Amino acid sequence: MQWETVIGLEVHVQLATRSKIFSGASTAFGAEPNTQACAVDLGLPGVLPVLNEQAVAMAVQFGLAVHADIPEVSVFDRKNYFYPDLPKGYQTSQMYHPIVGAGDVEITLDDESTKRIRIHHAHLEEDAGKSLHEDFHGMTGIDLNRAGTPLLEIVSEPDMRSAKEAAAYLKAIHSIVTYLGISDGNMAEGSMRCDVNVSVRPKGQEAFGTRAEIKNVNSFRFVERAIAYEVERQIELIEDGGKVVQETRLFDPERDETRSMRTKEEANDYRYFPCPDLLPVVLDQAYLDHLRSQLPELPADKRARFQTSLGLSAYDAHVLSASREMAEFFEEVHRVCGDAKQAANWVQGELSGALNRENLSIQNSPVSAKQLGELISRVLDDTINGKAAKQVFQALWNGQGDSADAIIDAKGLKQVTDTGAIEAMIDQVIADSPAQVAQYRDSEPEKRGKMIGYFVGQVMKASRGTANPQQVNGLLKEKLDALL
Ligand code: ADP
Ligand code: MG
Repeated sequence: MQWETVIGLEVHVQLATRSKIFSGASTAFGAEPNTQACAVDLGLPGVLPVLNEQAVAMAVQFGLAVHADIPEVSVFDRKNYFYPDLPKGYQTSQMYHPIVGAGDVEITLDDESTKRIRIHHAHLEEDAGKSLHEDFHGMTGIDLNRAGTPLLEIVSEPDMRSAKEAAAYLKAIHSIVTYLGISDGNMAEGSMRCDVNVSVRPKGQEAFGTRAEIKNVNSFRFVERAIAYEVERQIELIEDGGKVVQETRLFDPERDETRSMRTKEEANDYRYFPCPDLLPVVLDQAYLDHLRSQLPELPADKRARFQTSLGLSAYDAHVLSASREMAEFFEEVHRVCGDAKQAANWVQGELSGALNRENLSIQNSPVSAKQLGELISRVLDDTINGKAAKQVFQALWNGQGDSADAIIDAKGLKQVTDTGAIEAMIDQVIADSPAQVAQYRDSEPEKRGKMIGYFVGQVMKASRGTANPQQVNGLLKEKLDALL
């Protein structure tokens, strides 16, 4: 039996407002516990929430970026339940009239093909506090700093068919919200987390299977691993004559498995009703037009432009547009050096390699885009060769000079293109290598091409890497063949 996987994601994005969604308390991360929750966040008697306009603007911008319908009216509802991290006794959310309607997102798969994933809707809600289980000797501490932090919950249609597609979708959402600047997208700090709905069905069957929902997965890799485990569990269960039950599960990254949390029978009845303390949100056309005019170029548009007007490959265009910082860095390098392909190669090659090795993000790159662009210009105008360029890059990285030109001067890396100088070095190497010359002479003609590498290496060494390699190659061949 062939099985097909069906996946739908509910992504929670923490919006980057400075204050909470219904109060003036700060949303900054990392403060002392319980120093950033005010009476409104705690739902104390007699307080009234006031909607943060910035949160509305951010939600709408997301909606516009995913081509969604933005309804004129949206309404906040109370979702009632008890939990220690929710002293209000209800979460203010949007159940029946969300702020963002149906839209879609383009995802890019490993082979650079693309697919559209439909978004069912996105709604605004407040986050709850956090339970702290460590350091309390068998008791639980509660930190309410996060209570009232604005979240945008983005609910997809069940359009994904593999773990890879789900990860690509999450990456696409991450790109969009960080391009828009509506979230810092920091998954380690919980700024983006998702509930993963997974089911399987026999290939060719139209009806969906029963799904399990894996709560609060907070990394791209965990999403893939949780789905892989869950798919295998469900198929095995069905093939053994069992039935998947609709339930909520937790992913345990240490053991690489999902475990049941609660089944549907135990599910809460949240008794949603419109929040009497908040007016419906009414958005007029002028407001939407204003927000639309503020949208930056989005990842999909940038990717398309990198391909069509800069001539980059689909792969390069995708990698370089995935984060706004990466795209901006690349565009600045390109602006300075004028060669898109070289700029792409250096940003993805030497620079990304060095950043990864030292676990730095591109915003913290010790080599600036301007410095890298100038370095590439010196390769393009033949001032230095490729080998010296890597040395210059390393020196810039280590802060040994302010610019490529300064380092080229200081280290004497200017490429030697003077034929006379190169010939003199070649003559010296030939005079110093009688055994290799004899070997060259006695070899089959088709083997000589390979043997020339030894001599090139010696000449490059003699020039301390500064000789023009093409010239060295050509002149060496002439001189060696003259000895035959
Ligand atoms: P609920 O109303 O119970 O929250 P929804 O219909 O809103 O359920 O779906 C929640 C999420 O689950 C959505 O992202 C949706 O795409 C996904 N989903 C729904 N049915 C399935 C299914 N059979 N398999 C996988 N995902 C599903
Ligand atoms: Mg739901």
